Amino acid sequence: MDFELSDEQQMFRDTLRSFVEKEITPVASEWEREGRYPTEIVETMKEMGLFGITISEEYGGLGLDMVSFTLVFEEISRGWMGVAGILGSHSLACWCIEKYGTPEQKAKYLPELATGERRSGIGLTEPGAGTDLQGIRTIAVRDGDHYVINGTKTWITNARYANPLPVLVKTDPTATPAHKGMSVILVEAGTPGFEVQKDLPKLGYKGTESCEVLLDNVRVPVENLLGGVEGRGMQQVLSGLETGRLNVGARSLGVAQAAYDAALKYSREREAFGKPISDFQAIQLKLADMATKIQAARLLLYWAASEADKGKRVDMQSGMAKLFASEVCAEATLEAMRIHGGYGYSQEFVVERLYRDAPLMVIGEGTSDIMRSVIARSLVSGKESIG
Ligand SMILES: Cc1cc2nc3c(=O)[nH]c(=O)nc-3n(C[C@H](O)[C@H](O)[C@H](O)COP(=O)(O)OP(=O)(O)OC[C@H]3O[C@@H](n4cnc5c(N)ncnc54)[C@H](O)[C@@H]3O)c2cc1C
Repeated sequence: MDFELSDEQQMFRDTLRSFVEKEITPVASEWEREGRYPTEIVETMKEMGLFGITISEEYGGLGLDMVSFTLVFEEISRGWMGVAGILGSHSLACWCIEKYGTPEQKAKYLPELATGERRSGIGLTEPGAGTDLQGIRTIAVRDGDHYVINGTKTWITNARYANPLPVLVKTDPTATPAHKGMSVILVEAGTPGFEVQKDLPKLGYKGTESCEVLLDNVRVPVENLLGGVEGRGMQQVLSGLETGRLNVGARSLGVAQAAYDAALKYSREREAFGKPISDFQAIQLKLADMATKIQAARLLLYWAASEADKGKRVDMQSGMAKLFASEVCAEATLEAMRIHGGYGYSQEFVVERLYRDAPLMVIGEGTSDIMRSVIARSLVSGKESIG
């Protein structure tokens, strides 16, 4: 077995790390407190080609392997998880357009999405349905050579920059099972009736906006139906979420690593009873548990990503990686705060921000319990096994 990154992957990680250390880490806490959008960082990410990580070279992207894809989210999240969010649903949308789009859709959108000239996101969740996507109420009715879309989407990350925004709709609300009547439509910004209504106030994950979006009689040409065939939306979205789960697993890993790094450093500097607190066994036990679990999460994640690189479905593998890494992240950020004592609760120390960013990891792209269901389904059906 070979647990090493390839030379190319290591070089790529080094480039990402020095970008994050130079341009993201020094400003992250201040900009997130100010509620500032990281425009300058976005510009550098464009120059680095990071908006094209899932897009093949044919369309001007980097066409990264999935292990390198996870490195992007891990490294950026060591600096600021919110910035990774700017690339997250954008990359998922690009992946879906390249995999399922018509030749015209790919030619029209992918080259500009790859450079970041166009950006994207993903519009699935509604006020009444998140996990249960078959329960969505947004409807697209065919009217000549257009669809007319009505509904409300919520928690849509990157909504203010997305153009197009892939939106999950029901093209046949009477279909049973419901997923057979669901489709994805690419809605362009500026289409009359498409309104990004408000930014939702949130605990963490700042830097990128998460919005409520209203679709009020939005007329979209039929050419914007992803893949050109109705009824495939749910399948398109679910296979995209496999990639999304690797991305959230990698973000979890980055946040957890940052928490561990901060805790280790602080424990060597802070003195109590005449010695550094890192000399106390109680602190050492915490550090040892954190490091062990973070490293286990890393191995699980890289394994899931390399399984995806073999071109197979990785619902179980990405589910395991996302479940474990996100729970480790939640635990590690709390432990880092405990190690910091009262200072961990202060905005002057980074662990306060990491602690607020962590909970989204156990919710976004499917909650931990949903990950458990996905894993169990693969095992019980006999599609996958372990050992
Ligand atoms: C900051 C942020 C950004 C987001 N960005 C986006 C985005 O860009 N695009 C987008 O479409 N969505 C986005 N989301 C939405 C996110 O994907 C959903 O919140 C998530 O999928 C959970 O859905 P829900 O909130 O409706 O919870 P619910 O589905 O209502 O779940 C509530 C609870 O019930 C449990 N539950 C539900 N069904 C089952 C079941 N069958 N078995 C066992 N337990 C179950 C869940 O595990 C959870 O604990 C974002 C959310 C947040 C907070």
